[in-house]
Amino acid sequence: MHTKTIVQLAAGLKAGEFSSAELTRAYLDRIERLDARVNSYITVTAAAAMAAAKAADARIRAGQAGPLSGIPIAQKDIFCTEGVKTSCGSKMLDNFISPYDATVIEKFKQAGAVMLGKTNMDEFAMGSSNETSFYGAVKNPWDLDAVPGGSSGGSAAVVAARLAPAATGTDTGGSIRQPAALCGITGLKPTYGRVSRYGMIAFASSLDQAGPMARTAEDCALMLNVMAGFDERDSTSADRSVPDYTAALNQPLNGLKIGLPKEYFAEGLDNDVATVVQAAIEEYKKLGAAIKEISLPNTGLSVPAYYVVAPAECSSNLSRFDGVRFGHRCDDPKDLMDLYKRSRGEGFGPEVKRRIMIGTYALSAGYYDAYYLKAQKVRQLISQDFKQAFEQVDVIMGPTSPTVAFNLGERSEDPVTMYLSDAYTIAANLAGLPGMSVPCGFVGKRPVGLQIIGDYFDEARLLNVAHQYQQATDWHTQAPEQFK
Ligand code: GLN
Repeated sequence: MHTKTIVQLAAGLKAGEFSSAELTRAYLDRIERLDARVNSYITVTAAAAMAAAKAADARIRAGQAGPLSGIPIAQKDIFCTEGVKTSCGSKMLDNFISPYDATVIEKFKQAGAVMLGKTNMDEFAMGSSNETSFYGAVKNPWDLDAVPGGSSGGSAAVVAARLAPAATGTDTGGSIRQPAALCGITGLKPTYGRVSRYGMIAFASSLDQAGPMARTAEDCALMLNVMAGFDERDSTSADRSVPDYTAALNQPLNGLKIGLPKEYFAEGLDNDVATVVQAAIEEYKKLGAAIKEISLPNTGLSVPAYYVVAPAECSSNLSRFDGVRFGHRCDDPKDLMDLYKRSRGEGFGPEVKRRIMIGTYALSAGYYDAYYLKAQKVRQLISQDFKQAFEQVDVIMGPTSPTVAFNLGERSEDPVTMYLSDAYTIAANLAGLPGMSVPCGFVGKRPVGLQIIGDYFDEARLLNVAHQYQQATDWHTQAPEQFK
């Protein structure tokens, strides 16, 4: 059962080939047997999962099943889950049991999906390797010496290791697409505002966006159908209707105009990754697409602009963790200042502290104009680059990551090299555009992802473009040897 996609599992449930209780049990058994190898779950909610599965079975028997009824899903530990520990990968929230569900969680529950547990992640979603987690690094199922990417590294690993058919992720600068690429799975970051951020622990509020991570684009479409939509509890949520994301999957790609930004194929891109991505582009030509070289001239400014905007917003968002209202509190504080200092000093790890310090500095009087305001202007330029590009092409393609998965420990001492892991993904967040990563080959045993960026609210087209490729190729069906 663990080899099936959501679409195949839903068909099996509907036909009565197996029950959701059997399916859920099978996944829980696999997690128990295999998760120690990758460390992809922080919390496994076995009893609640079995209860939800039985409830789903009753609905299925009553003929009331939706596409996700009875389907096991893993949730990134950044989403608040009622009655379940919600740690955000941090010691700060190691003792936090959320009193309510995030909108995303609520929607999956309403759809009858079964939560298997909460996935490991970089602390407060800050990282590109899942090594900043308080719960230890996650290992890449394709090569246990390698990182899975981050910050949704646990989510990518559970899908790749077949420890859940699908998972949720969040993407502030690449955290769905980059781990999807490094783990050989399919991931979609929707347009900013498409999915509610209510109950999703905030990192950088103007960039954060949740999305699906699964084996196929078709499964991502089913998940996005459930996740997307206006939410009055999130003031930045987009008030527009949700199309059926599966409706356009089968449209042929004849005449599709694909833009290849020359900046995404320049210095910094690993040669072997370039070769694999070029082969994927050739496949698109065979499917009838027309290729055009384009330019996104401000690409080189996206990482520096992001590392002002994201830390600035995080320094503000994380000020709520003060030892008073949430999470970790130090022992025996001698006064209020001591309580703040020691609670935060003990609760946050080094990467989070680095970001808070950079962000506080960038926002401080005297530096605000020089850093934050300047970064916002660069952000505008980056959005304009994309606007011009989408006047000429339908989608933009390139590598998701400049390299395949790197070794555990390889970049953890060097923040700048780590930050450059997101050189191709960050611009879409700064502009608020949707982007996907689709498995397109390997370098050695480590997977390569093809990135597809679309215009605002063009998720249906991205999914169509990815699905057609997956009909013609089988990279997305491959599984790591020891998790087959
Ligand atoms: N790797 C980037 C960072 O560390 C992006 C993280 C994310 O998208 N959550 O900030």
